[in-house]
Amino acid sequence: MNNQLKFQTLDTLAFDNSFTRELPADPETENYRRQVKQACYSRVKPTKVSQPQLVSYAREMAEKLDLASEVCETADFVEVFSGNRLLAGMDCYSTCYGGHQFGSWAGQLGDGRAINLGEIVNQQGERWALQLKGAGPTPYARMADGFAVLRSSVREFLCSEAMHHLGIPTTRALSLVTTGEQIVRDMFYDGNPRPEPGAVVCRVAQSFTRFGSFQILTARGETDVLQQLIDYTIRTDFPHLGEPSQDVYLAWFEEICCRTAEMIVHWMRVGFVHGVMNTDNMSVLGLTIDYGPYGWLEDYDPGWTPNTTDAGGRRYCFGNQPQIAHWNLAQLSQTIAPLVEQPESLQQALGCYKKEFERGWQSMMAQKLGLNAFDTETDDKLVTELQAILQLVETDMTIFYRQLAKIDVEPLTDVSKMTLLEPLMDAYYVPEQLTNDITTRIGNWMCSYKARVCKDGTLNDTRRRRMDAVNPKYVLRNYLAQLAIDKAEKGDNSMVNKLLELLRHPYDEQPDKEEYAGKRPDWARHRAGCSMLSCSS
Ligand code: AMP
Ligand code: MG
Repeated sequence: MNNQLKFQTLDTLAFDNSFTRELPADPETENYRRQVKQACYSRVKPTKVSQPQLVSYAREMAEKLDLASEVCETADFVEVFSGNRLLAGMDCYSTCYGGHQFGSWAGQLGDGRAINLGEIVNQQGERWALQLKGAGPTPYARMADGFAVLRSSVREFLCSEAMHHLGIPTTRALSLVTTGEQIVRDMFYDGNPRPEPGAVVCRVAQSFTRFGSFQILTARGETDVLQQLIDYTIRTDFPHLGEPSQDVYLAWFEEICCRTAEMIVHWMRVGFVHGVMNTDNMSVLGLTIDYGPYGWLEDYDPGWTPNTTDAGGRRYCFGNQPQIAHWNLAQLSQTIAPLVEQPESLQQALGCYKKEFERGWQSMMAQKLGLNAFDTETDDKLVTELQAILQLVETDMTIFYRQLAKIDVEPLTDVSKMTLLEPLMDAYYVPEQLTNDITTRIGNWMCSYKARVCKDGTLNDTRRRRMDAVNPKYVLRNYLAQLAIDKAEKGDNSMVNKLLELLRHPYDEQPDKEEYAGKRPDWARHRAGCSMLSCSS
């Protein structure tokens, strides 16, 4: 941190709560479940917990909030970020939103277990909103309890930070604490409830506003509140667009389309599957938000979804994510329509998503392959065949691209099939699946790839460096998160912290941590938490 900046104590953190100051509040302050009309939020306090204990904190995020590590290691920090102690300047509230769940309008949802603490403006002038997830029931908790279990909190904490270090827009995590309470969960909704340790994650973002935050207002015909929320969002989070006006509304929607496209391209690059892309889980800032039953592709299967609730329809599987984002944006465009004089122009703006996604996807694929630029004449075919060969046999996507970077382009001819495939063998889960026909097809692709790289004239080392900068070596493999959870549930937080450290440098070779870069072990193929998750995750 810059020498001229100084660290804060918890008590000197400067809160500046623009959301509650500028937007309409629910007048009711009692905490009971209800429909909240004509308001963006309800004031509500976290539930006190018996024995909060720190599991982990993210030091980069702490620094962003001007908090030194020593502060994060105090008992006071744990009291504050478990929700037991409120700081002066905090103004606690939960927001009202709706959403389309699995394609159907679900009405009011809202922050059922998330309580915002307020916003901090740090010494660099950045605004950060703090939110406790799992801090007890709110007016939006509906039939649920408002709490979160350690299992899902470890997953949210680690993945938010891992995504950040991968260079992917995301909400962040400051801290993870256990509460000392036991929470009963039926993990697969199959009549097997068990008590699990309760936990709270402090999430941090410029804003947690979702597509659904606007949708609920339009659905209820509350156009005046809709305009207030849109104008506030533009002024606070999109100030470069200028003062809200008809033109600015369109430019704003276009920017949401572009940001969403950029986020999805990143997900496709690293093999991230969100798992519940309902419109209430789509950030209007284009951030990855709400880490529930997400997963990481192991073998490359575009039809894979980590979410057991989605297993039937596979609406949210890896390969559908680009289309689903478009569908969600189409819902948002209809939501904004009442404020736009020429709603047809929203339709045009929606076209930006497809254009931006296509452009971003091509450029991303070129980077993954170490090409100078994507040349549709040759590369459409090259990439289509690549996607086909990745699906011929069980192939680990992450390892495949790292190994592909290692090959030497020369010699172009007179190479045996086995020599060509040799560097890729690490990526194959069941080598026996590699029949003669399949190895020939993969070998042919390798030859086209080498010829294509040769046309660029890029040196092997340069290409390797480029590829390694976009193809991560380390991702939060589903089974690694589960191993960390198994230990944490027994009171051993070491692996949570080890993974946090590992995932700070996902693109670097970390020779002492090779074990975390390997394929998913066989025992994890069908284990709950490793390949199957539910919304209660
Ligand atoms: P999700 O799709 O998992 O992000 O959540 C959908 C809705 O359910 C949101 O309104 C959440 O706030 C709410 N929700 C999920 N889990 C709980 C819980 N344990 N208590 C209260 N509300 C919850
Ligand atoms: Mg959600």
